[in-house]
Amino acid sequence: MSAKAILERPSPNWDARVRGGPIDILLLHYTGMRSAGAALERLSDPAARVSSHYLIDEDGTCYRLVAEERRAWHAGESFWAEARDVNSRSIGIELVNPGHEFGYRDFPEAQIAALEVLAKDILARHPIPRTRVLGHSDVAPLRKQDPGERFPWAHLARRGIGIWPKAGFRVSPQAEMLTSGTSGPAVVQLQLALAGYGYGVEGSGLYDRLTEAVVAAFQRHFRPSLVDGKADAESQSLLYHLLALKERAERLDSR
Ligand SMILES: [Zn+2]
Repeated sequence: MSAKAILERPSPNWDARVRGGPIDILLLHYTGMRSAGAALERLSDPAARVSSHYLIDEDGTCYRLVAEERRAWHAGESFWAEARDVNSRSIGIELVNPGHEFGYRDFPEAQIAALEVLAKDILARHPIPRTRVLGHSDVAPLRKQDPGERFPWAHLARRGIGIWPKAGFRVSPQAEMLTSGTSGPAVVQLQLALAGYGYGVEGSGLYDRLTEAVVAAFQRHFRPSLVDGKADAESQSLLYHLLALKERAERLDSR
């Protein structure tokens, strides 16, 4: 499909990007508000101090709120790999959806088609690896659930946006279930693998509240059929599979 015109809807909620790295994260959100109008109003209200670069309505209408070279305020306190100031490193897109609070529903085809066009254009202009197309919950797992388990990550990955497990991926039968309250070397290994992928967790060896939230964020993105924060065999196998894909992609990039 061809790109529809982007409507200009400037928000005053931005500042200058802090230098320290390229724009190398694409961060996806849902608005979590009752209507597109309410979301547009809030994202450009100076008192709210929030914004995003783009907003896409359910019918595919796309608005530009903040120019890409500026630092929009969408990530909040967030973390991914070496990036602590995620707003300085990312471009943020809000998708209109009432979210878990007001009646979470599927993202309509027209909205996702518009997102595909916009995301491809952004990815062509910035050095954003496939593994750094992320959801808000990936970078702020204790605070956020968006864009949520209904977001079509698999569909977008087939279009070259983001990453998804390969069809031949196998679940390792020997992985023991790790859950809240467990501890030991297997938990350290899980935490280091999550951190290696980019999630903000350290290898403490204790399956604490943060670990549970990070596992839930991982599931919300890569295993949306069951989001329970428990590292079962499938979740662990998925993690190691994706880690291998990421490392292979990075080796190819560095050649
Ligand atoms: Zn968000």
